[in-house]
Amino acid sequence: MSYLVLARKWRPKLFSEVVGQQHVVQALQNSILNKKINQAYIFNGTRGVGKTSIARILTKVLNCKDPKNGEPCNECDQCLAMNENTLLDFQEIDAASRRSREETMNLLETVPYLPTSSKYKVYLIDEVHMLTKESFNALLKTLEEPPPHVIFMFATTEIEKVPPTILSRCLQLNLRLVSEEEIEKQLSKIFDQEKITYDQESLKIISKAASGSMRDALTISEKVVSYCSENLNKQDVQNILGIPDEEIIFSILDILKDKDSVSLVKFFDDFDENNSCKNILESLMYSIQEISLLQFGKSIDNKLNKFAEMTPEYLQLIYQIGLSNKVYFESTSDEKGLLAMTLIKMIAFSPEKKNSKIKSFDLKTDSLLFDWDQTLKKLNVSNLLKQILFYASAKKNKDEIIISIPEDKFNRINESYKKEISNSLCAHFNEVLKISYDSQVDHENTPSQIKNTMEMKESDEAVDLISKDEGFKKITTELNAEIKNVTKK
Ligand SMILES: [Zn+2]
Repeated sequence: MSYLVLARKWRPKLFSEVVGQQHVVQALQNSILNKKINQAYIFNGTRGVGKTSIARILTKVLNCKDPKNGEPCNECDQCLAMNENTLLDFQEIDAASRRSREETMNLLETVPYLPTSSKYKVYLIDEVHMLTKESFNALLKTLEEPPPHVIFMFATTEIEKVPPTILSRCLQLNLRLVSEEEIEKQLSKIFDQEKITYDQESLKIISKAASGSMRDALTISEKVVSYCSENLNKQDVQNILGIPDEEIIFSILDILKDKDSVSLVKFFDDFDENNSCKNILESLMYSIQEISLLQFGKSIDNKLNKFAEMTPEYLQLIYQIGLSNKVYFESTSDEKGLLAMTLIKMIAFSPEKKNSKIKSFDLKTDSLLFDWDQTLKKLNVSNLLKQILFYASAKKNKDEIIISIPEDKFNRINESYKKEISNSLCAHFNEVLKISYDSQVDHENTPSQIKNTMEMKESDEAVDLISKDEGFKKITTELNAEIKNVTKK
């Protein structure tokens, strides 16, 4: 089977073949059956969810000589030409590459001419948000009074970038992410018909990796099928997609559950360098989500049950740590070190003392967990104030937050700013907080410095330190030693 066959062959040709967008398809079919035809449609949704496929089916049914129940016949000249991509009255334009006013004007000049063979002339403009302001203005003039034989269809992944004046003239159709279950069902149908053998686990893995995009699911399938010679099995699919074996994730969860630093060291001693550390962290976070949902009543029939004894708070904490450390994978050359430090952080910051092989640190966890850089990003304050706070550091201790402002900026923090800071912090933490100020700036921990450091790709010196195994062992040993001292108190 050739590489491109799957995606092309299985592109939906009928509304009923579109996966996961029932609400949009139903609305379009109803409007067709009621003969309510709009002259401008905009399809909004992330990549690969079926925007241009639906636009093409809509074009077909509008021009079809023998439509049935709001579906195209796929047999008349119009339908066949559309399926073969040869219909002259249908123009698909990629706004990402043709976005200038001149190009838009050239296109719009063809609008007044009647269609050659169809009822409607259809212009499908993909990634329409990429058009320039001037192009949108030119387009708007046509949209205000389009000739009756013309229909515009727009597709976009970023609808907020489309001017409201354009939007108000379009029927807006919002496509959603396709669920894993829907992708799984469609893949099993396709594989059955293509006589590709598979196990259920492989389907699950591909469906999850597609992240809501049916097109991605097919692209991944093509890759996997060509590698596995049409006989898909879990192990091969996992290898191709770089997904870690679930045993690895279970080992890590065991380590976290027991706060077992000894096993953590062993885990990295035995670590197979072929594994992708970023994928391991992502899979771990997915499992943490599943365990959390399990605690909140989701029935999951799997081996994660035994981890449900971890407290919801701890799961939240390690998820948060995973989330904030995940971004550093883009800038580090030492993925293993970063994964190690992330897991150490997850253990070290555990507020639990019971049953742990490491006792928790004798430090105020509250203060440790307060991430000023991240907090500031989410804080609802004016931009000017944010700019000042960008150079500040902050500490949190129970219900008090101390903000340290550099001396040269201190006098800019007036009463109204103080009020703004207090209101937004209380709202952010959802508690009554006492805010105080000084100028003892911890320069290493200002968002400005953090940003600088990140940009210089020296984001985590500690990570570099443990890049070599020896270094990592040393740190872990030191960590243990320090903890033992604390325990002896
Ligand atoms: Zn037809």
